Amino acid sequence: MAWNKPLPHPTSISQPYWDGLRDHEVRLQQCEHGHWLFFPRTHCPTCGSRQLIWRRVSGEGRLYTFTVGRVPTLPEFTDEMPQLLAVVELDEGVHLNTTLVGVDPADVRVGQRLRPVFDDRPGEVTLLRYTPVESAHPGVIAGEAAPAAVPAPGVEEKPKRRISCKDIAAMKSLVSEEFTGWSNAFEVTQEIINQFAALSGDDYWIHTDPERCKRESPFGTPIAHGALVQVLVSRLKMPMDYEVVDFVNIVNYGSDRLRFPAIVPSGCSIHGRCRVKSVEQLKSGVQVTLEINVHVVGQDRPSVINDLVMLYM
Ligand SMILES: [Zn+2]
Repeated sequence: MAWNKPLPHPTSISQPYWDGLRDHEVRLQQCEHGHWLFFPRTHCPTCGSRQLIWRRVSGEGRLYTFTVGRVPTLPEFTDEMPQLLAVVELDEGVHLNTTLVGVDPADVRVGQRLRPVFDDRPGEVTLLRYTPVESAHPGVIAGEAAPAAVPAPGVEEKPKRRISCKDIAAMKSLVSEEFTGWSNAFEVTQEIINQFAALSGDDYWIHTDPERCKRESPFGTPIAHGALVQVLVSRLKMPMDYEVVDFVNIVNYGSDRLRFPAIVPSGCSIHGRCRVKSVEQLKSGVQVTLEINVHVVGQDRPSVINDLVMLYM
């Protein structure tokens, strides 16, 4: 799986810290008077000394505090929900911000002993995460780790109500303010975005050039074409509890409204839900307007709103 999350940028001052993590060691600065410091600096915040030495430490400590993030801070983090944002107090006394892995949110306790986990997956820098000392989680997350499996859709097949399109009263009863439950999730990979760019001819860099996006795009990562996300609705199985029967043909009339209110960053998963917005009897058949909303998983704001108009004949 491509790594689309923002990454730290080592500076000349912090480089030894990141070099240490790449070697799977935690290194901290210590001044000549024995004060430990973190984050990396040019002088000791306790005594002002500029005589600092980098020292290897165990990296172990205890959980100082934590919070359970259930709404991603950025769409790129939707695959990590719930995210355990933590402050660790190392045995040397300094605090560092991290995320916990290999532990159920219900089992996290302030004060519990933690050990470091070196996350090599990003490639450019190794990230430092933490896990309880007794956790079976490996101490290194390797770059070649298999892609995380997309969670099971959780869509169960229930017997559906069969509604005849010739029964206009029954059809009108489908109109609702309530949306269905969520569909399965589908990952919008950079590969799919590239395929759509080639097919449509819209190969604008904001969709296809991760390096330039990192430098120049406000999103920091490529984003999917709105039109691509719109058509990916075909990949989403909406849990509707009815099916319309008794028609010879369905005609797609297009959309009354099509909006792309929020972006879909490359590598994010999307899911959708829908509702019947209106039902009208026309001479030629029954016209149904279905409001389809597609969201990045975990995002309140939809990425696509489509009022799809269909005619059952
Ligand atoms: Zn000092």
